[in-house]
Amino acid sequence: MPMLGLGTWENDDPAQCTESVRTALEAGYRHVDTAQIYENEAAVGEGIAAADVPREDVFLATKVWIDSLAPADVEETTRESLDRLGVDSVDLLYVHWPARTYDPEATLAAFADLQDAGLIDRIGISNFEPEQVATAQDVLGGDVFANQVELHPLLPQPELREACADHGVEVVAYSPLARGAVFDVPELTEIAEAHGVSEAQVSLAWLREKGVTAIPKATSEAHIRDNAASLDVSLTDEEVQTIDDLDRRDRRVDPDFGPWN
Ligand code: NAP
Repeated sequence: MPMLGLGTWENDDPAQCTESVRTALEAGYRHVDTAQIYENEAAVGEGIAAADVPREDVFLATKVWIDSLAPADVEETTRESLDRLGVDSVDLLYVHWPARTYDPEATLAAFADLQDAGLIDRIGISNFEPEQVATAQDVLGGDVFANQVELHPLLPQPELREACADHGVEVVAYSPLARGAVFDVPELTEIAEAHGVSEAQVSLAWLREKGVTAIPKATSEAHIRDNAASLDVSLTDEEVQTIDDLDRRDRRVDPDFGPWN
């Protein structure tokens, strides 16, 4: 899984979304993240088709919404996602939240069936807490590939990262720029200025230091390229420590059905 991907939540003007995906792929991105609930799968698929990059070089992930986690709905809505995306299979299919119609045994068995049928290459979970990661990994006999969770310098989630490592589950950081809040953290600005880069790049470089894949959402070519340039930023141990020591906390995605509520 490429460690930098393009997020697409709220990139919901179809022409703009297609253009952002095409631009990102042609700028070197090889990982795109969408979801049924974003209602932009068709536009994402068009961006992939329009880019001068073969489909097989792109790591494409989508997510099944919480209303559709009963087995028959998992299969039906995933087939619909593939149709909208215009692909035969996705590289990663996530359970979007462990909520509403989620049932560990029934839901995950349906995901395993999709994998056996060749419609999805890997099974992911999203917004799972440590005990839920353990249960999912147990139910699937070790086949959970990744847990996508909110993660950035203002929500570092060390216990959750450790639990994922213990269970052999990759971590994918969503809202890796804290939806814009990283630009207002003086310590990040100071490190950014020392490197002549943006606070976004510092946050993404810090996540990479932690072994975490990040999927910043960016619409414009300028933001897409700025985030890609984070791959060239190396933080010193002292800078990583400064970010680890931040004590401000800010969870940006916090619906009532979040398992921590
Ligand atoms: P984010 O990536 O932390 O922040 C996106 C915001 O930062 C946008 O307003 C974007 O503006 C701006 N931005 C991006 N790059 C920038 C740069 N270099 N300089 C200045 N501003 C920049 O927030 P997010 O969209 O919440 O999270 C990223 C992705 O994670 C989502 O798009 C989605 O794919 C995924 N996600 C998943 C879940 C889940 O439950 N699994 C929840 C939330 C998000 P522009 O759009 O104008 O470029």
